[in-house]
Amino acid sequence: MNEAVTDSPTNFIHNVIDQDLATERVTRTIATRFPPEPNGYLHIGHAKSICLNFSTAAKYGGFCNLRFDDTNPDKESEEFQNAIKSDVQWLGFEWPGEALHASDYFEQLHQFAIELIKLDKAYVDNLSADEIRAYRGTLTKPGKNSPSRSRSVEENLELFEKMANGDFDEGKYVLRAKIDMASPNINLRDPTIYRIRKTPHHRTGDTWKIYPMYDYTHCVSDALELITHSLCTLEFEDHRPLYNWFLEQLEVPCHPQQIEFARLEISYAITSKRKLQQLVSENIVEGWDDPRLPTLRGMRRRGYPPAAIREFCERVGVTKKQTIIETTALETCLREVLDKDAPRAMAVLDPIKVVITDYPENKSEIIHARNHPKDEEMGSRDLSFSREIYIERDDFLENPPKKYFRLAPGCEVRLRYSYIIKCEEVIKDENGHITELRCSHDADTLGKKPADGRKVKGIIHWVDANSAVNGTVRLYDRLFTHENPGSEDNFLEHINPDSLQTIREAKLEASLTDAAQESVFQFERLGYFCVDSKLSNKDALVFNRTVTLRDTWTKVEEGK
Ligand code: ATP
Ligand code: MG
Repeated sequence: MNEAVTDSPTNFIHNVIDQDLATERVTRTIATRFPPEPNGYLHIGHAKSICLNFSTAAKYGGFCNLRFDDTNPDKESEEFQNAIKSDVQWLGFEWPGEALHASDYFEQLHQFAIELIKLDKAYVDNLSADEIRAYRGTLTKPGKNSPSRSRSVEENLELFEKMANGDFDEGKYVLRAKIDMASPNINLRDPTIYRIRKTPHHRTGDTWKIYPMYDYTHCVSDALELITHSLCTLEFEDHRPLYNWFLEQLEVPCHPQQIEFARLEISYAITSKRKLQQLVSENIVEGWDDPRLPTLRGMRRRGYPPAAIREFCERVGVTKKQTIIETTALETCLREVLDKDAPRAMAVLDPIKVVITDYPENKSEIIHARNHPKDEEMGSRDLSFSREIYIERDDFLENPPKKYFRLAPGCEVRLRYSYIIKCEEVIKDENGHITELRCSHDADTLGKKPADGRKVKGIIHWVDANSAVNGTVRLYDRLFTHENPGSEDNFLEHINPDSLQTIREAKLEASLTDAAQESVFQFERLGYFCVDSKLSNKDALVFNRTVTLRDTWTKVEEGK
Protein backbone atom coordinates (compact mmCIF):
# COMPACT_ATOMS: atom_id res chain seq x y z
CA MET A 1 0.00 0.00 0.00
CA ASN A 2 2.79 2.41 0.87
CA GLU A 3 4.56 4.17 -1.91
CA ALA A 4 7.87 5.82 -2.22
CA VAL A 5 8.04 8.95 -4.31
CA THR A 6 9.44 8.71 -7.81
CA ASP A 7 11.46 11.22 -9.79
CA SER A 8 8.94 11.42 -12.59
CA PRO A 9 5.65 12.39 -11.03
CA THR A 10 2.53 11.86 -13.06
CA ASN A 11 -0.24 14.39 -13.30
CA PHE A 12 -3.11 12.93 -15.26
CA ILE A 13 -5.11 16.12 -14.79
CA HIS A 14 -2.67 18.06 -16.93
CA ASN A 15 -3.13 15.45 -19.63
CA VAL A 16 -6.90 16.00 -19.47
CA ILE A 17 -6.47 19.76 -19.73
CA ASP A 18 -4.02 19.42 -22.62
CA GLN A 19 -6.59 17.38 -24.45
CA ASP A 20 -9.44 19.78 -23.61
CA LEU A 21 -7.40 22.60 -25.11
CA ALA A 22 -6.32 20.59 -28.16
CA THR A 23 -9.88 19.54 -28.97
CA GLU A 24 -11.18 23.03 -28.09
CA ARG A 25 -13.65 21.51 -25.68
CA VAL A 26 -12.40 24.32 -23.46
CA THR A 27 -11.71 27.68 -25.05
CA ARG A 28 -11.93 29.81 -21.92
CA THR A 29 -9.02 30.78 -19.67
CA ILE A 30 -8.09 27.77 -17.56
CA ALA A 31 -9.48 28.38 -14.11
CA THR A 32 -9.35 26.35 -10.90
CA ARG A 33 -10.21 27.06 -7.28
CA PHE A 34 -9.17 25.94 -3.83
CA PRO A 35 -12.36 25.57 -1.78
CA PRO A 36 -11.61 25.10 1.93
CA GLU A 37 -14.30 25.00 4.56
CA PRO A 38 -13.29 27.50 7.28
CA ASN A 39 -13.78 24.96 10.06
CA GLY A 40 -10.18 24.07 10.91
CA TYR A 41 -6.58 24.65 9.97
CA LEU A 42 -4.95 23.44 6.77
CA HIS A 43 -2.77 20.35 6.71
CA ILE A 44 -0.37 18.64 4.31
CA GLY A 45 -3.32 17.06 2.44
CA HIS A 46 -4.74 20.50 1.74
CA ALA A 47 -1.27 21.58 0.61
CA LYS A 48 -1.49 19.01 -2.15
CA SER A 49 -4.81 20.43 -3.30
CA ILE A 50 -3.49 24.01 -3.03
CA CYS A 51 -0.33 23.22 -5.00
CA LEU A 52 -2.29 21.30 -7.61
CA ASN A 53 -4.91 23.99 -8.13
CA PHE A 54 -2.59 26.99 -8.11
CA SER A 55 0.19 25.41 -10.13
CA THR A 56 -2.26 24.07 -12.72
CA ALA A 57 -3.69 27.56 -13.19
CA ALA A 58 -0.17 28.99 -13.44
CA LYS A 59 0.97 26.37 -15.91
CA TYR A 60 -1.85 27.25 -18.31
CA GLY A 61 -1.69 31.00 -17.75
CA GLY A 62 -5.04 31.01 -15.96
CA PHE A 63 -6.19 31.80 -12.43
CA CYS A 64 -7.01 29.96 -9.24
CA ASN A 65 -9.57 31.39 -6.85
CA LEU A 66 -9.53 30.96 -3.13
CA ARG A 67 -13.15 30.28 -2.25
CA PHE A 68 -14.38 29.55 1.22
CA ASP A 69 -17.00 26.87 1.31
CA ASP A 70 -18.88 28.57 4.14
CA THR A 71 -22.31 26.99 4.03
CA ASN A 72 -22.33 25.60 7.55
CA PRO A 73 -22.56 28.45 10.11
CA ASP A 74 -22.42 26.00 13.02
CA LYS A 75 -18.78 25.10 12.53
CA GLU A 76 -17.18 27.94 10.65
CA SER A 77 -15.42 31.05 11.83
CA GLU A 78 -13.50 34.15 10.88
CA GLU A 79 -10.52 32.87 12.84
CA PHE A 80 -10.21 29.77 10.66
CA GLN A 81 -10.80 31.82 7.54
CA ASN A 82 -7.97 34.24 8.29
CA ALA A 83 -5.63 31.41 9.22
CA ILE A 84 -6.34 29.65 5.93
CA LYS A 85 -5.63 32.80 3.94
CA SER A 86 -2.30 33.37 5.61
CA ASP A 87 -1.34 29.70 5.25
CA VAL A 88 -2.06 29.71 1.51
CA GLN A 89 0.04 32.87 1.15
CA TRP A 90 2.80 31.39 3.26
CA LEU A 91 2.86 28.38 0.96
CA GLY A 92 3.62 30.85 -1.82
CA PHE A 93 0.37 31.31 -3.70
CA GLU A 94 -1.73 34.32 -4.59
CA TRP A 95 -5.33 34.34 -5.67
CA PRO A 96 -6.69 37.07 -7.95
CA GLY A 97 -8.45 39.91 -6.11
CA GLU A 98 -10.26 39.25 -2.86
CA ALA A 99 -10.87 35.80 -1.43
CA LEU A 100 -14.31 34.57 -2.48
CA HIS A 101 -16.98 32.81 -0.47
CA ALA A 102 -19.86 30.50 -1.22
CA SER A 103 -21.79 32.99 0.92
CA ASP A 104 -21.13 35.66 -1.76
CA TYR A 105 -23.57 33.64 -3.86
CA PHE A 106 -26.31 33.02 -1.29
CA GLU A 107 -28.68 35.38 -3.10
CA GLN A 108 -27.97 33.85 -6.49
CA LEU A 109 -28.23 30.33 -5.09
CA HIS A 110 -31.58 31.21 -3.57
CA GLN A 111 -32.84 32.50 -6.93
CA PHE A 112 -31.65 29.35 -8.65
CA ALA A 113 -33.44 27.23 -6.05
CA ILE A 114 -36.67 29.09 -6.78
CA GLU A 115 -35.96 28.41 -10.45
CA LEU A 116 -35.64 24.69 -9.74
CA ILE A 117 -38.96 24.71 -7.91
CA LYS A 118 -40.60 26.47 -10.84
CA LEU A 119 -39.17 23.86 -13.19
CA ASP A 120 -40.71 21.24 -10.88
CA LYS A 121 -37.18 19.99 -10.20
CA ALA A 122 -37.26 20.70 -6.49
CA TYR A 123 -39.77 20.33 -3.68
CA VAL A 124 -40.15 21.14 -0.03
CA ASP A 125 -40.24 18.05 2.12
CA ASN A 126 -41.59 17.77 5.64
CA LEU A 127 -40.19 14.30 6.32
CA SER A 128 -37.86 14.22 9.31
CA ALA A 129 -34.15 13.53 8.79
CA ASP A 130 -34.69 9.93 9.97
CA GLU A 131 -37.59 9.42 7.62
CA ILE A 132 -35.63 10.82 4.71
CA ARG A 133 -32.88 8.35 5.48
CA ALA A 134 -35.34 5.45 5.67
CA TYR A 135 -37.01 6.47 2.40
CA ARG A 136 -33.66 6.74 0.67
CA GLY A 137 -33.18 2.96 0.39
CA THR A 138 -29.81 1.27 0.28
CA LEU A 139 -27.18 0.30 -2.25
CA THR A 140 -29.21 -2.79 -3.08
CA LYS A 141 -32.72 -1.41 -2.52
CA PRO A 142 -34.28 1.51 -4.39
CA GLY A 143 -35.68 4.40 -2.40
CA LYS A 144 -39.34 5.40 -2.00
CA ASN A 145 -40.91 8.66 -3.06
CA SER A 146 -41.71 11.03 -0.25
CA PRO A 147 -45.38 11.98 0.01
CA SER A 148 -44.20 15.60 -0.45
CA ARG A 149 -42.84 14.83 -3.89
CA SER A 150 -46.18 15.59 -5.51
CA ARG A 151 -46.61 18.96 -3.81
CA SER A 152 -47.61 21.65 -6.29
CA VAL A 153 -45.14 24.23 -7.53
CA GLU A 154 -47.18 27.01 -5.89
CA GLU A 155 -47.21 25.32 -2.54
CA ASN A 156 -43.47 24.60 -2.79
CA LEU A 157 -42.77 28.24 -3.58
CA GLU A 158 -44.83 29.36 -0.64
CA LEU A 159 -43.25 26.93 1.81
CA PHE A 160 -39.75 27.71 0.58
CA GLU A 161 -40.39 31.40 1.11
CA LYS A 162 -41.53 30.71 4.64
CA MET A 163 -38.44 28.61 5.24
CA ALA A 164 -36.32 31.55 4.08
CA ASN A 165 -38.27 33.94 6.32
CA GLY A 166 -37.48 31.88 9.37
CA ASP A 167 -41.11 30.86 9.95
CA PHE A 168 -40.17 27.25 10.76
CA ASP A 169 -37.96 25.55 13.27
CA GLU A 170 -34.74 23.87 12.21
CA GLY A 171 -35.37 20.43 10.74
CA LYS A 172 -39.06 21.04 10.05
CA TYR A 173 -38.64 21.29 6.29
CA VAL A 174 -35.94 20.87 3.69
CA LEU A 175 -35.79 21.66 0.00
CA ARG A 176 -34.90 18.62 -2.09
CA ALA A 177 -33.98 18.16 -5.73
CA LYS A 178 -36.49 16.04 -7.62
CA ILE A 179 -34.30 13.54 -9.46
CA ASP A 180 -34.84 9.81 -9.09
CA MET A 181 -35.51 7.83 -5.91
CA ALA A 182 -34.63 4.62 -7.73
CA SER A 183 -31.28 5.79 -9.09
CA PRO A 184 -28.46 3.28 -8.55
CA ASN A 185 -26.46 6.30 -7.39
CA ILE A 186 -27.77 7.20 -3.95
CA ASN A 187 -26.56 10.78 -4.36
CA LEU A 188 -29.24 11.24 -7.01
CA ARG A 189 -32.10 10.06 -4.76
CA ASP A 190 -33.58 13.51 -4.27
CA PRO A 191 -30.68 15.08 -2.35
CA THR A 192 -31.32 17.95 0.04
CA ILE A 193 -30.53 21.35 -1.42
CA TYR A 194 -31.46 23.65 1.47
CA ARG A 195 -31.88 23.24 5.18
CA ILE A 196 -33.06 25.57 7.93
CA ARG A 197 -30.37 26.89 10.29
CA LYS A 198 -30.91 29.64 12.80
CA THR A 199 -27.26 30.03 13.81
CA PRO A 200 -25.85 33.40 12.67
CA HIS A 201 -23.34 33.11 9.87
CA HIS A 202 -19.87 34.60 10.42
CA ARG A 203 -20.22 36.76 7.31
CA THR A 204 -23.90 37.18 6.55
CA GLY A 205 -25.06 37.41 10.17
CA ASP A 206 -28.74 36.55 10.52
CA THR A 207 -29.75 37.49 6.97
CA TRP A 208 -30.32 33.85 6.12
CA LYS A 209 -32.36 31.24 7.91
CA ILE A 210 -31.76 28.64 5.22
CA TYR A 211 -28.39 27.42 3.98
CA PRO A 212 -27.58 25.62 0.74
CA MET A 213 -25.95 22.18 0.83
CA TYR A 214 -22.42 21.59 -0.40
CA ASP A 215 -23.23 19.64 -3.60
CA TYR A 216 -25.61 22.29 -4.84
CA THR A 217 -23.47 25.21 -3.76
CA HIS A 218 -20.23 23.93 -5.12
CA CYS A 219 -21.12 23.38 -8.76
CA VAL A 220 -23.06 26.64 -8.98
CA SER A 221 -20.19 28.61 -7.39
CA ASP A 222 -17.75 26.98 -9.83
CA ALA A 223 -19.95 27.95 -12.77
CA LEU A 224 -20.42 31.53 -11.58
CA GLU A 225 -16.65 31.93 -11.25
CA LEU A 226 -16.08 30.49 -14.75
CA ILE A 227 -14.00 27.66 -13.36
CA THR A 228 -12.96 25.27 -16.14
CA HIS A 229 -11.72 22.33 -14.09
CA SER A 230 -13.05 21.64 -10.62
CA LEU A 231 -10.48 19.41 -8.97
CA CYS A 232 -11.57 17.47 -5.92
CA THR A 233 -10.74 14.32 -4.00
CA LEU A 234 -11.92 10.83 -4.92
CA GLU A 235 -14.79 10.64 -2.45
CA PHE A 236 -16.66 13.09 -4.70
CA GLU A 237 -16.55 10.78 -7.70
CA ASP A 238 -20.07 9.51 -6.99
CA HIS A 239 -21.26 13.09 -6.59
CA ARG A 240 -20.19 14.06 -10.09
CA PRO A 241 -23.53 13.10 -11.72
CA LEU A 242 -25.23 15.41 -9.21
CA TYR A 243 -22.72 18.20 -9.92
CA ASN A 244 -23.62 17.87 -13.59
CA TRP A 245 -27.36 17.53 -12.99
CA PHE A 246 -27.65 20.90 -11.24
CA LEU A 247 -25.68 22.66 -13.95
CA GLU A 248 -27.82 21.09 -16.65
CA GLN A 249 -31.06 22.33 -15.05
CA LEU A 250 -29.93 25.88 -14.41
CA GLU A 251 -29.02 28.75 -16.68
CA VAL A 252 -25.45 29.10 -15.52
CA PRO A 253 -22.71 30.84 -17.51
CA CYS A 254 -20.68 27.66 -18.09
CA HIS A 255 -20.38 24.03 -17.16
CA PRO A 256 -17.09 23.25 -15.40
CA GLN A 257 -15.69 19.74 -15.41
CA GLN A 258 -15.20 17.96 -12.10
CA ILE A 259 -12.09 15.77 -11.94
CA GLU A 260 -11.24 13.66 -8.92
CA PHE A 261 -7.78 12.73 -7.63
CA ALA A 262 -6.48 10.67 -4.70
CA ARG A 263 -6.16 12.34 -1.31
CA LEU A 264 -2.68 12.70 0.06
CA GLU A 265 -2.03 10.75 3.20
CA ILE A 266 1.35 10.34 4.88
CA SER A 267 2.55 7.59 7.17
CA TYR A 268 2.65 7.95 10.97
CA ALA A 269 0.35 10.96 10.81
CA ILE A 270 -3.28 12.02 10.92
CA THR A 271 -4.80 14.26 8.26
CA SER A 272 -8.41 14.24 9.33
CA LYS A 273 -9.56 17.62 10.61
CA ARG A 274 -11.81 15.98 13.15
CA LYS A 275 -9.01 13.87 14.59
CA LEU A 276 -6.57 16.78 14.54
CA GLN A 277 -9.15 18.76 16.47
CA GLN A 278 -9.36 15.92 18.98
CA LEU A 279 -5.58 15.92 19.50
CA VAL A 280 -5.79 19.65 20.19
CA SER A 281 -8.85 19.67 22.42
CA GLU A 282 -7.63 16.74 24.51
CA ASN A 283 -4.29 18.54 24.98
CA ILE A 284 -2.31 15.68 23.49
CA VAL A 285 -0.50 18.31 21.47
CA GLU A 286 0.10 21.98 22.26
CA GLY A 287 -2.27 23.39 19.68
CA TRP A 288 -2.94 23.40 15.94
CA ASP A 289 0.60 24.67 15.46
CA ASP A 290 2.28 21.92 17.45
CA PRO A 291 5.46 21.12 15.49
CA ARG A 292 4.58 17.40 15.54
CA LEU A 293 1.37 17.92 13.56
CA PRO A 294 1.18 17.81 9.77
CA THR A 295 -0.78 21.07 9.81
CA LEU A 296 0.80 23.87 7.80
CA ARG A 297 1.02 25.86 11.04
CA GLY A 298 2.78 22.98 12.77
CA MET A 299 5.14 22.39 9.89
CA ARG A 300 5.93 26.08 9.69
CA ARG A 301 6.76 26.20 13.38
CA ARG A 302 8.81 23.04 12.99
CA GLY A 303 10.94 24.80 10.35
CA TYR A 304 9.57 23.52 7.06
CA PRO A 305 10.29 26.04 4.32
CA PRO A 306 7.28 26.32 1.98
CA ALA A 307 9.52 25.28 -0.92
CA ALA A 308 10.02 21.85 0.67
CA ILE A 309 6.27 21.29 0.92
CA ARG A 310 5.73 22.46 -2.66
CA GLU A 311 8.49 20.17 -3.90
CA PHE A 312 6.99 17.22 -2.03
CA CYS A 313 3.52 17.85 -3.47
CA GLU A 314 5.06 18.04 -6.92
CA ARG A 315 6.92 14.77 -6.47
CA VAL A 316 4.00 12.74 -5.16
CA GLY A 317 2.20 13.53 -8.39
CA VAL A 318 -1.53 13.36 -9.01
CA THR A 319 -3.21 10.02 -9.50
CA LYS A 320 -6.45 8.21 -8.88
CA LYS A 321 -4.80 5.53 -6.79
CA GLN A 322 -5.23 5.97 -3.04
CA THR A 323 -1.90 5.39 -1.28
CA ILE A 324 -0.08 6.40 1.84
CA ILE A 325 3.13 8.25 1.13
CA GLU A 326 6.11 7.65 3.39
CA THR A 327 6.80 10.57 5.68
CA THR A 328 10.47 9.95 4.89
CA ALA A 329 9.73 11.18 1.34
CA LEU A 330 8.56 14.49 2.77
CA GLU A 331 11.67 14.67 4.93
CA THR A 332 13.88 14.02 1.92
CA CYS A 333 12.45 17.14 0.25
CA LEU A 334 12.92 19.02 3.50
CA ARG A 335 16.60 18.05 3.78
CA GLU A 336 17.26 18.96 0.17
CA VAL A 337 15.90 22.47 0.58
CA LEU A 338 17.50 23.06 3.96
CA ASP A 339 20.89 21.70 2.91
CA LYS A 340 20.93 24.35 0.24
CA ASP A 341 19.44 27.23 2.19
CA ALA A 342 20.14 26.80 5.89
CA PRO A 343 23.18 28.59 7.29
CA ARG A 344 25.43 26.47 9.48
CA ALA A 345 25.97 27.01 13.17
CA MET A 346 27.41 25.10 16.08
CA ALA A 347 25.53 23.88 19.10
CA VAL A 348 26.24 21.26 21.70
CA LEU A 349 23.16 19.48 22.97
CA ASP A 350 24.70 17.27 25.63
CA PRO A 351 27.75 19.24 26.73
CA ILE A 352 30.91 18.12 28.42
CA LYS A 353 33.49 20.72 29.31
CA VAL A 354 36.95 20.60 27.75
CA VAL A 355 39.77 22.63 29.27
CA ILE A 356 42.67 23.24 26.93
CA THR A 357 45.38 23.42 29.52
CA ASP A 358 48.14 24.77 27.30
CA TYR A 359 45.99 27.60 25.95
CA PRO A 360 46.54 30.95 27.72
CA GLU A 361 43.98 31.70 30.37
CA ASN A 362 42.91 35.16 29.39
CA LYS A 363 43.19 34.73 25.69
CA SER A 364 40.23 34.68 23.35
CA GLU A 365 40.61 34.65 19.61
CA ILE A 366 38.24 35.13 16.74
CA ILE A 367 37.83 32.38 14.21
CA HIS A 368 36.06 32.94 10.92
CA ALA A 369 33.59 30.23 10.06
CA ARG A 370 31.75 29.98 6.79
CA ASN A 371 28.02 30.01 6.98
CA HIS A 372 27.69 27.47 4.21
CA PRO A 373 30.36 25.10 2.93
CA LYS A 374 29.09 25.18 -0.64
CA ASP A 375 27.79 28.72 -0.90
CA GLU A 376 30.32 31.47 -0.38
CA GLU A 377 27.67 34.15 -0.84
CA MET A 378 26.14 33.18 2.47
CA GLY A 379 29.19 34.78 4.08
CA SER A 380 30.93 33.97 7.30
CA ARG A 381 30.62 34.70 10.99
CA ASP A 382 33.00 35.13 13.89
CA LEU A 383 33.35 32.41 16.46
CA SER A 384 35.27 32.99 19.63
CA PHE A 385 37.70 30.41 20.91
CA SER A 386 39.23 30.24 24.36
CA ARG A 387 40.68 27.90 26.93
CA GLU A 388 37.35 26.29 27.84
CA ILE A 389 34.97 24.85 25.33
CA TYR A 390 32.08 22.40 25.23
CA ILE A 391 31.92 19.34 23.07
CA GLU A 392 29.21 16.71 22.70
CA ARG A 393 29.38 14.06 25.43
CA ASP A 394 29.12 11.29 22.87
CA ASP A 395 32.06 12.65 20.90
CA PHE A 396 34.28 11.25 23.62
CA LEU A 397 34.81 7.61 24.51
CA GLU A 398 37.05 6.44 27.30
CA ASN A 399 37.57 3.02 25.74
CA PRO A 400 37.14 3.54 22.03
CA PRO A 401 36.79 0.71 19.56
CA LYS A 402 39.14 0.55 16.59
CA LYS A 403 38.51 3.14 13.89
CA TYR A 404 36.96 5.55 16.36
CA PHE A 405 37.90 8.93 15.00
CA ARG A 406 36.51 11.19 17.68
CA LEU A 407 38.06 12.11 21.01
CA ALA A 408 39.55 9.48 23.33
CA PRO A 409 42.31 9.44 25.93
CA GLY A 410 45.65 10.07 24.22
CA CYS A 411 43.96 10.63 20.86
CA GLU A 412 43.68 13.68 18.66
CA VAL A 413 40.71 15.22 16.98
CA ARG A 414 40.17 18.36 14.93
CA LEU A 415 37.82 20.99 16.31
CA ARG A 416 35.76 22.27 13.41
CA TYR A 417 37.37 25.48 11.98
CA SER A 418 39.88 25.40 14.82
CA TYR A 419 42.82 23.53 16.35
CA ILE A 420 43.68 19.90 16.75
CA ILE A 421 43.39 18.89 20.39
CA LYS A 422 44.55 15.82 22.26
CA CYS A 423 42.88 14.37 25.32
CA GLU A 424 45.39 14.23 28.19
CA GLU A 425 43.21 13.59 31.23
CA VAL A 426 39.67 12.56 32.14
CA ILE A 427 38.16 14.11 35.27
CA LYS A 428 35.32 12.26 37.02
CA ASP A 429 33.12 12.92 40.01
CA GLU A 430 32.73 10.53 42.95
CA ASN A 431 30.17 8.50 40.96
CA GLY A 432 32.54 7.92 38.10
CA HIS A 433 30.66 10.36 35.90
CA ILE A 434 32.92 12.32 33.54
CA THR A 435 32.76 15.99 34.39
CA GLU A 436 35.59 17.44 32.37
CA LEU A 437 38.28 16.60 29.87
CA ARG A 438 41.74 18.14 29.96
CA CYS A 439 43.30 18.52 26.57
CA SER A 440 46.36 20.02 24.92
CA HIS A 441 46.28 21.70 21.54
CA ASP A 442 48.62 21.93 18.60
CA ALA A 443 48.95 25.68 18.20
CA ASP A 444 50.18 25.33 14.64
CA THR A 445 47.01 23.71 13.29
CA LEU A 446 44.55 26.60 13.14
CA GLY A 447 43.12 26.31 9.68
CA LYS A 448 45.98 24.10 8.50
CA LYS A 449 47.15 20.52 8.58
CA PRO A 450 49.83 19.42 11.05
CA ALA A 451 53.29 20.33 9.77
CA ASP A 452 54.68 16.85 10.39
CA GLY A 453 52.15 15.27 8.06
CA ARG A 454 50.38 13.19 10.73
CA LYS A 455 46.77 12.38 9.93
CA VAL A 456 43.93 13.40 12.20
CA LYS A 457 40.75 12.02 10.74
CA GLY A 458 38.00 13.07 13.08
CA ILE A 459 36.39 16.51 13.16
CA ILE A 460 33.98 17.41 15.94
CA HIS A 461 31.91 20.48 16.65
CA TRP A 462 32.30 22.63 19.76
CA VAL A 463 31.17 25.85 21.36
CA ASP A 464 33.33 28.33 23.27
CA ALA A 465 32.38 28.15 26.96
CA ASN A 466 33.20 31.84 27.39
CA SER A 467 30.63 33.13 24.99
CA ALA A 468 28.17 30.22 24.66
CA VAL A 469 24.52 30.95 25.32
CA ASN A 470 22.20 28.48 26.95
CA GLY A 471 19.20 27.39 24.99
CA THR A 472 16.33 24.95 25.03
CA VAL A 473 16.21 22.48 22.19
CA ARG A 474 13.12 20.44 21.47
CA LEU A 475 13.67 17.15 19.70
CA TYR A 476 10.67 15.68 17.92
CA ASP A 477 9.87 12.19 16.82
CA ARG A 478 6.82 10.78 15.06
CA LEU A 479 3.62 11.54 16.96
CA PHE A 480 2.32 8.03 16.29
CA THR A 481 3.92 4.62 16.56
CA HIS A 482 1.46 3.22 14.02
CA GLU A 483 2.04 3.71 10.33
CA ASN A 484 -1.61 4.41 9.61
CA PRO A 485 -3.14 5.50 12.92
CA GLY A 486 -6.29 6.73 11.21
CA SER A 487 -7.15 3.18 10.17
CA GLU A 488 -7.32 1.99 13.77
CA ASP A 489 -10.44 1.99 15.96
CA ASN A 490 -8.85 4.30 18.45
CA PHE A 491 -6.01 6.28 16.94
CA LEU A 492 -5.19 7.75 20.36
CA GLU A 493 -3.90 4.36 21.50
CA HIS A 494 -1.03 4.70 19.07
CA ILE A 495 0.46 7.94 20.32
CA ASN A 496 4.25 7.81 20.65
CA PRO A 497 4.98 8.66 24.31
CA ASP A 498 8.44 9.93 23.33
CA SER A 499 7.50 12.25 20.54
CA LEU A 500 8.95 15.27 22.34
CA GLN A 501 12.21 15.41 24.22
CA THR A 502 13.24 18.73 25.70
CA ILE A 503 16.88 19.60 26.28
CA ARG A 504 17.13 22.55 28.60
CA GLU A 505 20.81 23.36 28.80
CA ALA A 506 22.11 23.13 25.29
CA LYS A 507 25.15 25.31 24.58
CA LEU A 508 24.74 27.46 21.51
CA GLU A 509 27.27 29.59 19.67
CA ALA A 510 26.78 33.24 20.57
CA SER A 511 25.73 34.37 17.09
CA LEU A 512 22.47 32.45 17.51
CA THR A 513 21.26 35.07 19.99
CA ASP A 514 20.46 37.25 16.99
CA ALA A 515 18.68 34.56 15.01
CA ALA A 516 15.43 35.79 13.52
CA GLN A 517 12.13 34.12 14.41
CA GLU A 518 11.45 31.05 12.30
CA SER A 519 14.95 30.97 10.83
CA VAL A 520 16.43 27.51 10.34
CA PHE A 521 20.06 26.53 10.86
CA GLN A 522 22.00 23.42 10.33
CA PHE A 523 23.62 22.71 13.67
CA GLU A 524 26.69 20.99 12.31
CA ARG A 525 26.61 17.23 12.59
CA LEU A 526 23.26 17.28 14.40
CA GLY A 527 20.49 18.30 12.05
CA TYR A 528 18.34 21.29 11.16
CA PHE A 529 16.93 23.48 13.90
CA CYS A 530 14.42 26.30 13.77
CA VAL A 531 13.90 29.21 16.15
CA ASP A 532 10.55 28.53 17.79
CA SER A 533 8.20 31.33 16.81
CA LYS A 534 6.14 31.01 19.97
CA LEU A 535 8.50 30.20 22.80
CA SER A 536 11.81 31.71 21.81
CA ASN A 537 13.01 35.17 22.75
CA LYS A 538 16.35 36.92 23.09
CA ASP A 539 16.73 35.98 26.72
CA ALA A 540 15.55 32.40 26.39
CA LEU A 541 16.33 30.81 23.07
CA VAL A 542 14.21 27.84 22.03
CA PHE A 543 14.97 25.77 18.96
CA ASN A 544 12.89 23.03 17.37
CA ARG A 545 14.66 20.21 15.64
CA THR A 546 13.18 20.33 12.16
CA VAL A 547 14.79 17.11 10.98
CA THR A 548 17.94 15.11 11.56
CA LEU A 549 20.73 15.19 9.00
CA ARG A 550 20.18 11.64 7.86
CA ASP A 551 17.11 9.54 7.58
CA THR A 552 17.27 7.36 10.66
CA TRP A 553 13.82 5.89 10.02
CA THR A 554 14.44 3.93 6.87
CA LYS A 555 17.34 2.18 8.56
CA VAL A 556 15.18 1.19 11.51
CA GLU A 557 12.58 -0.17 9.13
CA GLU A 558 15.11 -2.19 7.17
CA GLY A 559 16.63 -3.56 10.32
CA LYS A 560 13.26 -4.70 11.69
P1 ATP B 1 -14.03 18.01 5.67
O1 ATP B 1 -14.14 16.58 6.05
O2 ATP B 1 -14.23 18.95 6.81
O3 ATP B 1 -14.75 18.39 4.41
P2 ATP B 1 -11.67 18.36 4.14
O4 ATP B 1 -10.33 17.89 4.55
O5 ATP B 1 -12.29 17.87 2.92
O6 ATP B 1 -12.51 18.13 5.40
P3 ATP B 1 -12.00 21.02 3.10
O7 ATP B 1 -11.79 22.30 3.78
O8 ATP B 1 -13.33 20.74 2.54
O9 ATP B 1 -11.60 19.92 4.13
O10 ATP B 1 -10.89 20.82 1.99
C1 ATP B 1 -10.57 21.80 1.03
C2 ATP B 1 -10.03 21.16 -0.20
O11 ATP B 1 -8.87 20.39 0.12
C3 ATP B 1 -11.02 20.20 -0.82
O12 ATP B 1 -11.04 20.42 -2.22
C4 ATP B 1 -10.49 18.85 -0.49
O13 ATP B 1 -10.83 17.92 -1.47
C5 ATP B 1 -8.99 19.09 -0.41
N1 ATP B 1 -8.36 18.13 0.50
C6 ATP B 1 -8.67 17.90 1.77
N2 ATP B 1 -7.92 16.92 2.29
C7 ATP B 1 -7.10 16.51 1.30
C8 ATP B 1 -6.07 15.51 1.20
N3 ATP B 1 -5.76 14.74 2.23
N4 ATP B 1 -5.43 15.38 0.02
C9 ATP B 1 -5.74 16.17 -1.01
N5 ATP B 1 -6.69 17.11 -1.00
C10 ATP B 1 -7.37 17.29 0.14
MG1 MG C 1 -14.48 18.90 2.34
